[in-house]
Amino acid sequence: MAGKSLAERDQDVIWHPYTQMKTAAAPVAIVKGEGEFLIGDDGKRYLDAVSSWWVNLHGHAHPYIAQKVSEQLTTLEHAIFAGFTHPVAVELAERLLQILPCNQSRIFYSDNGSTAVEVALKMCFQYWSNGGESRKKVIAFNNSYHGDTFGAMAVSARGAFTTPFESLLFDVIYIDTPNQNNISDLKTSISALGGDVAAFIYEPLVQGSGGMLMYEARYLDELVEFCKQQSIFTIADEVMTGFGRTGKLFASDYLLQKPDIVCLSKGLTGGTMALGVTSCTSEIYNAFLSDDKLKTLFHGHSFTANPIACSSALASLDLTLAPETADNLQRIGSKHAAFAQKIKSHPKLKDVRQTGTIIAFEWQTGENTSYFSSLRDNLYNFFLGQGIILRPLGNILYILPPYCIKDEHLDFIYEKVEEALSKF
Ligand code: PMP
Repeated sequence: MAGKSLAERDQDVIWHPYTQMKTAAAPVAIVKGEGEFLIGDDGKRYLDAVSSWWVNLHGHAHPYIAQKVSEQLTTLEHAIFAGFTHPVAVELAERLLQILPCNQSRIFYSDNGSTAVEVALKMCFQYWSNGGESRKKVIAFNNSYHGDTFGAMAVSARGAFTTPFESLLFDVIYIDTPNQNNISDLKTSISALGGDVAAFIYEPLVQGSGGMLMYEARYLDELVEFCKQQSIFTIADEVMTGFGRTGKLFASDYLLQKPDIVCLSKGLTGGTMALGVTSCTSEIYNAFLSDDKLKTLFHGHSFTANPIACSSALASLDLTLAPETADNLQRIGSKHAAFAQKIKSHPKLKDVRQTGTIIAFEWQTGENTSYFSSLRDNLYNFFLGQGIILRPLGNILYILPPYCIKDEHLDFIYEKVEEALSKF
């Protein structure tokens, strides 16, 4: 082992996610985080323009989160969560319910975004079966992504990620995201499905992995309202959009209608710990209260409501609700909007779109938009060479920064986007 670099030792023993291990370049070894930077073992500083897989809100190795987590580590690191509870889980649930859409009344903890979605689906299916009804259909959007576990894969769009498992996934009805032109057709097709629909799941306003595809709140609002009229439960997957990402605390806050269930993860802990939350209304919760033990929600994880994760979520929430973060959301949103305005008519761009702190640039490639576009690697390597971490989704490049990013660093990224546009 002596003499090998960290990346070489990694290559001997580790299988990385979303990585073709046969052809992938050696991983970049990161040994430290500092604000909007990740720092390599060779001392190179990388601007983290994707918030480390969309999780980081307030910068890496944030001293306040570190302090709270470290206090928690020497107070209570883990407690079994069936039959027992602990202060940070209770406080976090109380505080989340104060800021979530006001119809939410219960918090169910799990470990990550995919499990938050699994729990949401189980809540819906079992709600109906507890009431003696069998409802098996789920409506989801084309281009949706809700995670990599089986239920989450089933409600995600079919494609490269799901192909090997396709025959094992339950059937889902896919519809387009709503707009002015299709909204009435969407309603007609939903009512034609009859009474067998258990739930409608959606990424509100921005479909992340599908390509940072954005759509308007008012048509989603209409669709959510319509589903409620049809007694179809609505699940807002706010795993990516939660905690300020779209400019408001939750993307659902742009709507008048309130979802029956909300899924949270990623920014929930400021990106420090793995934690998932599925919140629901009292109507859903009450359907599981029974003298019949079989009506229990039999779901849980070893690390459910882990105290370290909950304490890091509480610390992140303090930072998220501080006036400074509201200012940062405003600042990043305005800077993105000005840059979008500046380059929107660039001949190489098919589209520039922005919602809150997310801005996406869709390159013209002459081919269809694709996750496997060869442009992807060229752009990725170009930005990495410039010390910027950006992971294009095929020919779609996006910036999704930590909220603490400084203006000069955003300007540097924009400058390099323009350089990339002249180069590729
Ligand atoms: N839902 C959405 C909207 C996501 O973007 C993701 C992850 N990118 C997930 C669910 C799954 O979360 P996780 O990776 O934590 O399982």
